[in-house]
Amino acid sequence: MNEECPFCSNAATYKKIIQYSNLIWVKCNNCNGGRLKSYISELERESDTLHDVYKRYIESSRIFDKIAKEKANWLLSKWNENFIVVEIGAGLGSVAKQLREINPSIPYMAIEPNSTFADYLMGQGTKVFTGDPLVSLENAVKEVISLNKKALFLMDNVLEHVPYPTKYLNFLQSISPSGSIICIEVPNEAGLKWRAEIQDFIRGFKKPPTFPGHINLFTKRVLRYTLLKASFVNISVKYKAIRSDEQVAYLLQSEKLSLKTKLAVRFLKFIPVDYLLGIPYWLRGEAQVR
Ligand SMILES: [Zn+2]
Repeated sequence: MNEECPFCSNAATYKKIIQYSNLIWVKCNNCNGGRLKSYISELERESDTLHDVYKRYIESSRIFDKIAKEKANWLLSKWNENFIVVEIGAGLGSVAKQLREINPSIPYMAIEPNSTFADYLMGQGTKVFTGDPLVSLENAVKEVISLNKKALFLMDNVLEHVPYPTKYLNFLQSISPSGSIICIEVPNEAGLKWRAEIQDFIRGFKKPPTFPGHINLFTKRVLRYTLLKASFVNISVKYKAIRSDEQVAYLLQSEKLSLKTKLAVRFLKFIPVDYLLGIPYWLRGEAQVR
């Protein structure tokens, strides 16, 4: 396989990380960036299953609200009146709702290519740019510039779904006002192969090692590399670990947690095994437009 790498943009060769049914995840021999071998994003795939997943998301928005507050506060720590919050892939707008509750005067706009979510957001009275992802990004940024502001971008578990993340971020960086900031959370896919084996063993049956919609696999190093390659400055990438029942409920899409799960969460608070192994569940990247 000699396809263009989504991370380093080379005509790269890949080695296989893991296979589940007909899904194969591979890793670039040049930059170590991981990807789904058949590199088709959800927007192009139009799968029924994914549509069902999103429908379920809408039904369980209460679970999202619970963890969105912490994310709203993360953004607020970067915000001042020179910024407009621009959320890319806003989904159900859970973070927007929490921002409004904390401070209703914080300006917010959403970019949401998925029409189910876009309709839902507009119904909530949110300003939404929808349609082609690059055109809507450009239009949102134009609006930020016309208001003489900078953008405070949020990509909350979105970049793993975006085709060619380095090119996308480089485009975003090139059109945005200097001093704009981006906050990115993605799943940490480090150790995917052996984590999948342990998870299958505990579960007693096989499941995909990660969500099949994750066409890009990030590790701490790969996220940093992507931001650097996209020409951002002041880059920071940190782990964000699971330490609350609300986070697990969000991941499982169910508020009914087993005692075993609850005990596991308590255990991690005392012995941070995930940090020791470099596999806390999420990564958080922050960077600035030069
Ligand atoms: Zn590469």
